[in-house]
Formats: sequence, structure tokens, C-alpha cells
Amino acid sequence: MHKISDFRSDTVTLPTPEMYEAMARAELGDDVLGTEPTVTRLEAMTADLLGKEAGLFVPSGTMGNQIAIALHARDGEEVICEFGAHTYNNESGALALIARAQVRPVHGSLGMMEPGEVQKLVRPKNIHNPRTALITVENTHNAAGGTIVPLENIHALAEVARRNKTAYHLDGARLWNAHVATGVPLKDWCAPFDTISVCLSKGLCSPVGSVLVGSREQIERGRYMRKQLGGGMRQSGLLAACGIVSITKMIERLKDDHANARRLAEGLAGLRGVQLDMSTVQTNILYFAVPGRDSEFDTWLKRLAEQKVLAMVLGNRWRLVTHNDVDHEDVDRALQAWRQILA
Ligand SMILES: *Cc1c(COP(=O)(O)O)cnc(C)c1O
Repeated sequence: MHKISDFRSDTVTLPTPEMYEAMARAELGDDVLGTEPTVTRLEAMTADLLGKEAGLFVPSGTMGNQIAIALHARDGEEVICEFGAHTYNNESGALALIARAQVRPVHGSLGMMEPGEVQKLVRPKNIHNPRTALITVENTHNAAGGTIVPLENIHALAEVARRNKTAYHLDGARLWNAHVATGVPLKDWCAPFDTISVCLSKGLCSPVGSVLVGSREQIERGRYMRKQLGGGMRQSGLLAACGIVSITKMIERLKDDHANARRLAEGLAGLRGVQLDMSTVQTNILYFAVPGRDSEFDTWLKRLAEQKVLAMVLGNRWRLVTHNDVDHEDVDRALQAWRQILA
């Protein structure tokens, strides 16, 4: 019997054999006591790769984003982000809890916020208004379909941030995907931002972990917050060793995920009743709808599972994600299962 073809998320990727070897060899210490050579190495390597002074290894992308937000915005101040942003919708309200900030969302297109629109939402300074403290961008944009926010848009928003003296943060959980899809160097994607959070545990296959990068001063304050949030870890060099494999060996490979997502999307788009906008299929995530048949989705999930194909339904949309543990055969199997369902 074949393995399960799991298209629910790129977070399901298992560590590679090289990661197990790296774990076995890793030099360990105690990161909370300040000596964890492998963590220190991952932090420095990631900061260097993204063109910032310092890095902080954190247990999750959520913690990376939320520490960054709390560095920039506090106590009733306002954060501008796109309506579908992960920081706003999928981090369990942490922004209100930890930074105690509030969100001013902007309806974007394909994850892109229009700079003029953002400028209009920056609050005039007076005693009545919350201070606009931060603008955040998500790239690639998960809820919009893994879409790439173009560099020109990122520069235009940076200009708005500069003009209004707000901080500028990137939720770069899948920045790697934007980088390999466009060929734009990682440092160019990161230069306009004050802080960037990147995930190691998605397409890059690490079991756990994200890195937040920024200035030395920001990262030192972030280190204190990480401890407050219970994110101080001890022999975390075991995880950081995998992270080093992720950033040195696993980035270029994401191209395969993009090719698989495209093939899957092209196959699905041709099936009866499927509504799939190919312009949103830019990296490793695809969404589609089958209008009028939402009530059948639970049955379809079961039928897919019988064929050992796992997918995710979010509201009235299906989400499929490609990653290191799905290949051509998995794509064929998923298409075959969908052909039967929609026949
Ligand atoms: C996955 C993800 C995160 C972080 O998620 P964790 O599960 O906390 O690691 C942040 N932003 C985006 C866009 C994501 O997709």
C-alpha cells in the first residue's frame, strides 16, 4: 500500500536524513544560560543570509511575529496589515494579548496592500487617535494563495512607513518561496524591513522553529521577551542543527514544490465545476472552490482519505499545499481522486 499523500500543509514535512545526522553531531549547550553554540550559529547564519545584524531562534513563527510586533507597537497603538494576514487572523489574538495593540486591516489584492490606501489609514497625531506604530507585510501571502508581494510594492510601502515614522515588519514565513520563484536575492527582499520572521519548519523541513532577525538592539530586547513568553529553550541546538540544514540545503529545492503545485492546479482547473484562478498559483499553495456543492465537502474529504489523499477545507475553499514529502506520484493520485469525485 502506498504512503499517504498529505496536501494539508507544508508544515507536515518530516526532517530529512541529513537533519537526523546533524542532530546526532550537534554541539550542545544551554541556550537560556547563554551558551548554545549551534543555536548561536543558526542565529548568526540566518541574520547574515537576510542581511540583518542579529537573529533570535524561536519555537514558532507565531512567536517570531508576536515578539516583533511587541517590539514595535505597544498598549493601544495600531498595526496596519492586510485583511487576510496570518498575524491578524491565525495567531489566536496574540497581538491584542502580548503587544496589547490593535489592528487596522487593509483589503489587498493577491496579498498586496495599495500604498495610497495604507497612507490614508495612518492616523493623524492627536490626543484622540491611536498612534500608527507598525506596518506589516506577509510574503508569500498564505491566505491569498501563496502569492508573491512584488518588490516594488514592498518598496512603496517602505516609503509610507518612512514618511510616517512607523516600523516595518515582514512575516516571511514563506519568504524562501518568493525568493526561489522570482530569483530576487533574499537580502533585497529584506532590506526595506526593520524586522523579519522566517519559518524553518514549513517547506524547509525542520521539525520545529523560526528565526526573527533585526538590529542587535531589537534582538536583545526580543531575547528578553522570548524568555517571558516561555520560549527560552535549553539544548535547542538539536533543533537549530536541523535549521542549519534547512537554510543551507533546502531552499533551492522549493522550486520542485512550485512545479508540483502548478501541475496539480492545471489538472484541477480542467475538472467540472472547479473554480481555480491560475493567477494565484505562484508558489506552493493553491486554493479552489466548487460553487454550489459546499454541502458535499465532508463526504469528499472522506473519499479523498480513502484514497490516502489528505486536503484541507477552509470555509468554502479547498487548500492544497505541496512540499518535500509529496512528489509527482502524489500529484497524480490526488488528481485521480478528484476526477472520480467530480465525474
Ligand atoms: C505558518 C505561518 C506562520 C507561523 O506559524 P507557526 O505555526 O506559529 O509556526 C506565520 N505566518 C504565516 C503566513 C504562516 O503561514
